[in-house]
Amino acid sequence: MNIGRGKKNFSLPLPFLLFLVSCWVFHLPDIRYIRYRIRCRTSLTPMTIQETLFSKIIRKEIAADIVYEDDLALAFRDIHPQAPVHILVIPKQPIPKLADVESEDQALMGHLLLTVKRVAEQLGLSNGYRVVINSGNDGGQTVDHLHLHILGGRHMNWPPG
Ligand code: 5GP
Repeated sequence: MNIGRGKKNFSLPLPFLLFLVSCWVFHLPDIRYIRYRIRCRTSLTPMTIQETLFSKIIRKEIAADIVYEDDLALAFRDIHPQAPVHILVIPKQPIPKLADVESEDQALMGHLLLTVKRVAEQLGLSNGYRVVINSGNDGGQTVDHLHLHILGGRHMNWPPG
């Protein structure tokens, strides 16, 4: 392609032109977007990751007994409690399971653990508690939205079932 003006000629090579068009079409400069697309393609539950019961609880479309909320996390009582105190701490970002967490989620993961500590203190679990993350089928995970169980209010047995 030649753009001529006066005596000077500027030429845009075709590969460069194609590169610019692909940047526009495929969001190439946005590396986080590319990684998100790859994650969706390689995930066993592509795109359905957006919609779980927990997404609806985050959007307040399903009622839940919420005990803590901030910009990144939500904590609410489990509907089938396995201990006198049974809380689920979830990220608002729909990460399906622990095995899908990436290095860019490091700060969020730290925040979730600090949320566990904060909620446990808030609920008076001064004698201790257990934190459980089930990941995937063998882990016994039933809801495909990352969540941390806080179990407390009684002595926990070991090994778990
Ligand atoms: P998982 O088995 O995936 O580790 O844990 C999922 C947890 O979510 C279970 O303990 C289950 O009782 C809880 N759960 C499932 N559906 C709901 C719901 O609609 N509301 C609340 N509060 N908890 C739920």
